[in-house]
Amino acid sequence: MNEAAALRADFDALAEIGRRPEGGWARPAFSPADCAAHDWFLERARLAGLSARYDAFGNAVARLGADNRPAIVLGSHLDTVVGGGAFDGALGVLAGLDVARRLVASGDVDTPVEVVAFRDEEGRFGPFTGSRAFTGTLPLGTIDKLRDADGVSLVEAMRMAGFDPAAAAEAARDPAGISAYLELHIEQGPVLEEQGLPLGIVTAIAGQERLAVRFVGRSDHAGTAPMNLRRDAFAATARFADRFRDLVLADESKTLRGTVGIVNLLPNQGNVVPGEVRLGLEIRDIDQAAVERTARATEKLAVEVAEQFGCELKCRSIHKDAPVPMDTGLRGALEASARELGAASMALPSGANHDAGVMGRFVPSAMLFVPSRDGRSHCPEEHTDWQPIALATDVLEATVRRLAATSRAA
Ligand SMILES: [Zn+2]
Repeated sequence: MNEAAALRADFDALAEIGRRPEGGWARPAFSPADCAAHDWFLERARLAGLSARYDAFGNAVARLGADNRPAIVLGSHLDTVVGGGAFDGALGVLAGLDVARRLVASGDVDTPVEVVAFRDEEGRFGPFTGSRAFTGTLPLGTIDKLRDADGVSLVEAMRMAGFDPAAAAEAARDPAGISAYLELHIEQGPVLEEQGLPLGIVTAIAGQERLAVRFVGRSDHAGTAPMNLRRDAFAATARFADRFRDLVLADESKTLRGTVGIVNLLPNQGNVVPGEVRLGLEIRDIDQAAVERTARATEKLAVEVAEQFGCELKCRSIHKDAPVPMDTGLRGALEASARELGAASMALPSGANHDAGVMGRFVPSAMLFVPSRDGRSHCPEEHTDWQPIALATDVLEATVRRLAATSRAA
């Protein structure tokens, strides 16, 4: 087995960019650290003999093969959440680069291969802005409206980084120019480690629905209002959240997830009965029907609880994303390559979304997971052992060779 020494050297070099003295990494999209990471990547790609450029949105694209035949694209992202780890995203880009480097060295694959680092996977300016620009699904009209949590606009950030936001639409690619998209990524969950397996082949990326729920009761004096006369919006919320969890747990789908992530209490004072609570919740599954039935059951539950607690209710669905199944042919190619290399693997769903979730709606796509220690991610403790990384990179290389051989035969 290849020890992935070159990949590891790249990883160590990249880990110097955006490392925080207080721990963890911070490479928010289009920040100086993020730009330095992308510049560094393009430079490494050029040294490896690839042609390397930024597209009009700032995605970094390195290409092996000069002709216009459809390319096999290997990608992920170099940005991180603030205080995140060194592996999320970076690993997939660097593994792609390592595979391209091996293909340059062997010189025996003539199918074009691209390695892409998508900007803003972590969503500083909105979900997957880089891969959405790449696939032509980032509505141009919205670019001026996108801002980060501090109010910095995407337009401003792009200009600071040397890109012209007015030209962003030119980043959109023709799907006919891409035959397959493969992304190696850390699992960011505990399943592979629990199973003692080095590799996971993703079946589908979970879809989701988000609901905004508002219980409106009445603010009263916490000392004088009798318990039986209150219209306590938080009491309604507590009952609702508890029963929502039961509903998710009782569902027949074992891949269903439900989370109340936002609770805003008004007036949020110790001596006032809460008059209003605004909740945000999300439901995810690779099974669209399970998301749908849970969302509808949750709406019913909200009506029931609001009535019970004398509250008015506003409940609306604010976001829906269908699950994205990974391409069966590509999953098969990854499985066959893993088997050929004697690597044990399992099929598993991805609860987290990835650039592959955007690419999967555009071109045939698949993902390869490596284990996350303790299932941790988006934190400085994020870690994956080098043995499964080296194995996964070998599987990625073997899969590219397998796909290239098929395209030659076709
Ligand atoms: Zn990631």
